[in-house]
Parts: sequence; C-alpha cells; structure tokens
Amino acid sequence: MAIQVLKPKFHVEECLEGVRECLEKGWTGMGFKTVEMEEEWKKYTGHKYAYYLNSNTVGLHLAVKILKMNNGWADGDEIISTPITFVSTNLAIAYENMKPVFADVDDYLCMDPVDVEKKITPKTKAVIFVGYGGRVGQLDKIIEICKKHNLKLILDAAHMSGTKVNGVCPGTWDGVDVTVYSFQAVKNLATGDSGMICWADEKSAEMTRMLAWCGINKDTYARSNKGTYAWKYDVDYIGYKYNGNAIMAAIALTQLKYLDEENARRRQIVNMYNEGFKNNPKIKIIPAPHADECSYHLYELIVPNREELLNKLSDDGINCGVHYRDNTEYSVFAFGDGQAPKAREVSQHLITMPLHMWLTDDDVKTIIEKVNQYV
Ligand SMILES: *Cc1c(COP(=O)(O)O)cnc(C)c1O
Repeated sequence: MAIQVLKPKFHVEECLEGVRECLEKGWTGMGFKTVEMEEEWKKYTGHKYAYYLNSNTVGLHLAVKILKMNNGWADGDEIISTPITFVSTNLAIAYENMKPVFADVDDYLCMDPVDVEKKITPKTKAVIFVGYGGRVGQLDKIIEICKKHNLKLILDAAHMSGTKVNGVCPGTWDGVDVTVYSFQAVKNLATGDSGMICWADEKSAEMTRMLAWCGINKDTYARSNKGTYAWKYDVDYIGYKYNGNAIMAAIALTQLKYLDEENARRRQIVNMYNEGFKNNPKIKIIPAPHADECSYHLYELIVPNREELLNKLSDDGINCGVHYRDNTEYSVFAFGDGQAPKAREVSQHLITMPLHMWLTDDDVKTIIEKVNQYV
C-alpha cells in the first residue's frame, strides 16, 4: 500500500468509549466533554484561558475580531502575516475587512523579524505568527518588535500542539496576546475538526465565550434569576456558531493523552531524515530551534526538482505533499504579490515528506534512499 504524507492515528477503542459516554448521557453538543477538554488543555499547556471551538479557522477570526473591537481598529488597517501558511491565517484578517501585509520568511520558514519591522506602517495593528511545522522560529524577536511598536500578537499554533521550549508552550510566553490551536483531521492532535483559542486576558476570553455561541450571554439572567428564569438569556453581540461539541472533545481528550509520546516518535523520524539527507548537497534541510521539543507537524525539504521528485516518489508509492503555496499566488491575495520574494522562491521548491505514526523505520529508510536517488 502507498505511503501517505499525513495520516492520523486514532486510539479507536478509547475514543469510542468517550463517544459512547456522550451518546449514553444524551449530551453531544457544547458542554460536558468540551469543558473537560478545556480544563485538560489548560493543564497541559499552562494557558490561563481556553475555549473549545469547531476549528482553528474560526478561532483566528475571533482573535482578529475581538482585538479589532477592543482596540478600535478600522477597516483597512493592516496586520503583518506570512505568505507561506494555510490560507485560513490570512482569511481571518480579510474576514474583518483588514489588510494582510506579507513579511518574508527566515531559514525556519517562519516570519523574518527583520522584514516584519520593515513592513510596519502607521496602519499596522498586529502581527500573526505561524509556528510553521511546529517550529518556534524567532518568535522571541517578534515579541520584542510587537512590544516596541505597540502591536498585538496572534499566534497561529495550528502546527504547534505539543511544541515546548524548555518545557514551556510558547503560546504562554509574555507578549503573545492570543494563541489558536487546530485539532483538524491530520494535525498532531487529530479529531474530526476542532480547535482551541487561548487568550492571555480574561476580558477577551469572556467575549470569546459569547461571540462563539451566537452572542448569547447566559450569565445576565443566571446570576440574578434562578429557577423559572433559567431559560432566559440576553444576546449581547451579533455572534457566530463557532463552538466545539462533546463528540469531538471526547476524541480530543483521548488523543491528548498520546500527544507527547507521538511527538517524540515524530522527532525520532525527523532525526532519521536529517541524518539521511545531510550529506546530499542538493537538499536543504529546514532547521528547528529547540528541535528537541518541536512538535514537527511537517517535515519539509527544499529541493531543486520538486515537481519531478513528487512524481517519481508517487510512482514508487510514496505520496509527498506541498505545504504551502505562497498565498499571494491566490487570486484573493494577489495584491501582495512581490512583497515576500524569498517566500515565493522557497515555496516553489518545498516538498513535504511523510511524517506520522504509521511509518516504520524501514519505510523511512526506503524514503531516504529514493529521495537521495532522485535528487
Ligand atoms: C490547519 C491550519 C489552519 C486551519 O485549521 P482548521 O482547524 O482546519 O481550521 C490554520 N493555520 C494553519 C497554519 C494550519 O495548518
């Protein structure tokens, strides 16, 4: 059977037990397991606040929206972002009628702090940093820049479930205003679709609770009126239906138990790959600061003959991928064309190697052999 590029491993029996609990209890919507997942995630990451959502995409939208509401940002104001990311990162900016400005990338394929600083204008309000492949890149320098220029910082941590630096999740660092995780079907902590938004401040966390659930403020009546008025609530905002559900949370709770163990296996595979490719002068390996604690959602290489390599490996039953196309090549972000030349160049040579729990050491050896043969 062909080797897939990304393939989640579900702990099926244990997941089903959690799902069964939901079904037997008759509680599959918001609450119950979603609250449990929020508590477990806070314990695991050290975040003070956590709200379980139906995806990372909606979390990024809420992050931009709430910051815009609370800080008086205007339509047309700018947020500095990366062009090499899943499109959701930049859609979140566009949802709020703001403008993504694209900074170039560094050797980690994360945003280059030098270019970020160059792209700041009087309209710049925030930076969205993507921990590409789980790498923390130069997030510390980006934090300094944001503090210096009074910019808000959103961390798109879709790839970063389990990434730590000296045992600490970077999303909890001082200076990160909000961190958004993805538990989408092929991410390190896979469910069906879901995600988590973690604010550093209580006010934004409270607003998230309401905005993610149709703007409903249940507290107003719950606080003052018990009993017969339990059904009453106010609607404070024109909110959205963005909350996660107990079925997904039941799966997430199970998968979370295995996250560290699985990320350790990812690192083992990455070490094998790095060893296997380091003597090939035509292959460029992407380094990772704090490689020992990186979640390694993706393993990418920079190669001269990307398309050819993709095809040849595919003929051998090894399916690789591309993460990601430069977003300024998409029609909706074409206005950013030319803003990040290094990102454009790199994105044309990036190839994602298989990296998941189903790979055997022999699979990895075969992949290394084939790649070195074709590049
Ligand atoms: C997967 C991904 C997203 C979107 O996550 P969903 O949970 O699918 O909405 C956002 N940003 C990056 C970098 C991603 O890889």
